Amino acid sequence: MLREYYPYEYVESVFVIDYQKLRDMGIRGVIFDIDNTLVPHGDDATPEAEALFKTVHRAGLKTVLLSNNDSERVERFIRDIDTPYVCDADKPAPEGYLKALAALGMEKDEVVFIGDQTFSDVRGANACGIKSILVKYFGYYTERRIGVRRRIERVVLWCYRHSKKYCHRLGDIVREEP
Ligand SMILES: [Mg+2]
Repeated sequence: MLREYYPYEYVESVFVIDYQKLRDMGIRGVIFDIDNTLVPHGDDATPEAEALFKTVHRAGLKTVLLSNNDSERVERFIRDIDTPYVCDADKPAPEGYLKALAALGMEKDEVVFIGDQTFSDVRGANACGIKSILVKYFGYYTERRIGVRRRIERVVLWCYRHSKKYCHRLGDIVREEP
């Protein structure tokens, strides 16, 4: 069923989310994907990404990274970011998500997962009963050649946006000002 791939929310980017609102609705931890979610694939952390973690932590949320990439890549990303991580996660397999929950010391209903792919990120979160926020991948507006996977993803998301039952399950989580 398509709903396996439906996120709880779908927003422009990690930078438009109001993390205080997540905290106010009882969320205590955030599991982040890295590539194409926080930075373009393979890139080092940007000042914007580093500032984001400070904002998230200041809102009273703990963080953990969940990446299919290896430790060398993740270590490079977190050079100036204070967060634990799970690498070689093999998303959408549930094991990595469970390790991420353990790293946070939290239950699945206390956390939210944020990533850019419906078929790995969101599907794995759904399989584990973790709420998910899908963001538009880096390059969404600029990539000229879109792969088959991303094309199918757009169809799935079209259906998602037209689903009264599954769309906007978290409610208003976007910051007021840009
Ligand atoms: Mg990604």
